[in-house]
Amino acid sequence: MRWSYKVARVAGIEVKIHITFLLVLAYFGLIYWQQGGVKGAVEGVGFTLLLFLCVLLHEFGHAFAARAYGIRTPDITLLPIGGVARLERMPDKPVQELLVAIAGPAVNVVIALVLLVFLTARVRMSDFTDLEHGGLLESLLAMNVMLVAFNAIPAFPMDGGRVLRALLAMMMDYTLATTIAARVGQVLAVVFAVLSFFGPSMLLFIAVFVFFGAQQELAYARFRGGGGQRKISDVMCSDYSAIPTETPVTHALALARASRQGIFPVVDRQLRAVGVVSIHALETAVADGFGSQPADVLAQPVSRIQVDTPLTAAMASIPLRVPVVVENASGQIVGLLAVQG
Ligand SMILES: [Zn+2]
Repeated sequence: MRWSYKVARVAGIEVKIHITFLLVLAYFGLIYWQQGGVKGAVEGVGFTLLLFLCVLLHEFGHAFAARAYGIRTPDITLLPIGGVARLERMPDKPVQELLVAIAGPAVNVVIALVLLVFLTARVRMSDFTDLEHGGLLESLLAMNVMLVAFNAIPAFPMDGGRVLRALLAMMMDYTLATTIAARVGQVLAVVFAVLSFFGPSMLLFIAVFVFFGAQQELAYARFRGGGGQRKISDVMCSDYSAIPTETPVTHALALARASRQGIFPVVDRQLRAVGVVSIHALETAVADGFGSQPADVLAQPVSRIQVDTPLTAAMASIPLRVPVVVENASGQIVGLLAVQG
């Protein structure tokens, strides 16, 4: 995510903070400062940080559950609206998705229980005379209960939406399960929007959040539904021109101009790609007087992918907007992705 900064690395997972999160923290600090001076500001910011620590632990709950199924989580980003654990991929089996979704709120249940036990014990010890000092921890307990309640709403992008989808997917096709879960979310969004006129305006915010969450999940499921069985070989371009190594740059440019590609693989005698070269690089080299040089000196490193890779796995691993060479098992080039320069 842009404007996110790495602040820590825990168990191989990068913890990032989005710049807007710091702005929100500063805003809260200012509000608390106006109400209670420096002490108020410190307490207010301290509480906000503790709250987001709970959100962070919630995301680690998802990440560790996913790890149990061999799914990596490269990073967790804290945003003002909460945390986002970026899982490398979604679990394939509904029961796994169910457990990964539940693991987040489960962490908040544990935190809430620990706080409850601690607060109850302290109230007993102090004989009910020391209650006002518990304000911070009691608020934290309340916020953890709210986090669990919020995520229990059966709508994307809340964990409840994933739980609902996983439960449905145990009985039906994944795309259909997602469609139903997303529709439930959209109905709830309308209900929240209507209720917001009579109740807290916060409901309108949730309504918008839930509505777009449903849209996004539907789009992803349709993509995945369509792409699930397909392989790289179904989408790659197999009608491409290549430049043999040792071709002089001038010849390579003539070849390049005759085709409609922007980027060309440079291939050796065994038909293995040694790199790629753009028509722009060829033009520049000719203009600079390097026309007699072999084109391979201009070749840039290229990403490679096996031709039988399923499309869904490929989407997770290939970089966007850079040329990718598709290879067969013996490393020979059989196609290209993103050849339009
Ligand atoms: Zn969650």
